[in-house]
Amino acid sequence: VHGSKRKLEDLNVLLSRLPKSCKLHFESAPVKMVRASKQYMYDDAGTEYLDGINNVAHVGHCHPQVVHAGQQQMARLSTNFGFLTDVQGMYAKRLLETFPEPLNVCFLVNSGSEANDLALRLARAYTKKKDIICVDNAYHGNLGSLINISPCRFKKMQDFVKEDWVHVAPVPDVYRGIHRDTSNPGQKYATEVAKIITHAHANNRQIAGYISELTMTNAGVIKPPIDYFKLIYSIVRGAGGVCIADEIQTGLGRVGEHWWAFQHFDVVPDIVTCGKPMGNGHPMAAVVTSHQIADCLGDFISTYGGNPVACAIGLSVLDIIHNEKLMSAAKSVGRCLLEGFKAILPLHTTMGDVRGLGMVVGVEIVTDKESRKPSKEVAEMLSYKLKNDARMLVANDGPDKNVMTLVPPLCFTTDNAKQLVTKFDKLLKEIEDGLLGKDTSKSIDDGKISLDMISGIESDSDSDESEAKRARYDDVD
Ligand code: PMP
Repeated sequence: VHGSKRKLEDLNVLLSRLPKSCKLHFESAPVKMVRASKQYMYDDAGTEYLDGINNVAHVGHCHPQVVHAGQQQMARLSTNFGFLTDVQGMYAKRLLETFPEPLNVCFLVNSGSEANDLALRLARAYTKKKDIICVDNAYHGNLGSLINISPCRFKKMQDFVKEDWVHVAPVPDVYRGIHRDTSNPGQKYATEVAKIITHAHANNRQIAGYISELTMTNAGVIKPPIDYFKLIYSIVRGAGGVCIADEIQTGLGRVGEHWWAFQHFDVVPDIVTCGKPMGNGHPMAAVVTSHQIADCLGDFISTYGGNPVACAIGLSVLDIIHNEKLMSAAKSVGRCLLEGFKAILPLHTTMGDVRGLGMVVGVEIVTDKESRKPSKEVAEMLSYKLKNDARMLVANDGPDKNVMTLVPPLCFTTDNAKQLVTKFDKLLKEIEDGLLGKDTSKSIDDGKISLDMISGIESDSDSDESEAKRARYDDVD
């Protein structure tokens, strides 16, 4: 009792120095983490958690190769901008090799927000126009310019007045959006954007660009119809605007089959922003575009952007993705999660939808399948239960906080995925039984279904090899 009282006091001291606006996971009982390794985090009591939240720890928490690269470079050279270094040149080359033409130049910056702000400046400098189309419920960063195009934030702010240069397109959501259960949803959502442009032109406004994630994580893991971006990009370009892809969460191999999510939709954006995974936790981000667009900007200065330490770390991240075949793992383990959740969906009254791309997976929790009404209550209960009873970290996110969102480190294994789906199923059943006051739902535990029977759960040889490689790191840890 004494120990837990001290622990509470300790947490309260930490909390007292943070502004209330500072968001935390598990707000009613925040966790104090002290260390992490691979796909696991450890709290101050030494409890191990399986991490389904940290997309930043892309190649695994505290990967020894990343740590070593940073330490070595920090001891050799860490300089202000304005000097040429081999490590920066090499990083730019290696990063750009993952992009198709004409995306052959990169600005290196320090955060996703900085990258998106620069993307807006580039779009405006190139087109000489001002207006931006964003997607409803999007989040693009914490700078003033980006709150303006982040409906997920500004809709919650009292007295916020949307700027005239911002146009909000509907989320291309086929589960609960304005065009659901319909044929040609991609075409219908693209027409909405065409209407926005016509309306803007009628008001003497000109479109500089369209920005969105390629699978809208912050909007609740919305995977647009496959033809959506092709149609939108052509409409926006036809109106003289540029297309910006925010790949800050989805990029650098997370979608499995490609380096970048835009490749899944078979489009090439004019400007791409990337961040979170690039430094595996070390702050670094980038804007990738063509020379034609980049050269319109005039001067660009960033004290820390592209500093040698960040670039050395970034290079090691690219090496690890390649050496440990993490894209292949993202593909097969992501499929395993998706198929696993799809298999238990019919067993649960509160599971509305399962969707995702690679290791970006979302499960909609609803009050009932007919109404599709979001259930923040059940999603939150499930998130806390997974943490407390199963030691698994899964956020309930999205505009209604009802989408269980999984963006784990790419070293997540098929076993982790199976365990997670099994616990998810069991704990959700307990919640549903508790809500109904009786035992009505079924679960894997009933023996009705075995996860090994699900095709997606089978690991493929690449991911086995990837897991074997990581096991070798265990030996040197
Ligand atoms: N874009 C997206 C899609 C994001 O998810 C985030 C961060 N959650 C950002 C931009 C902003 O990145 P940062 O917090 O590194 O500034």
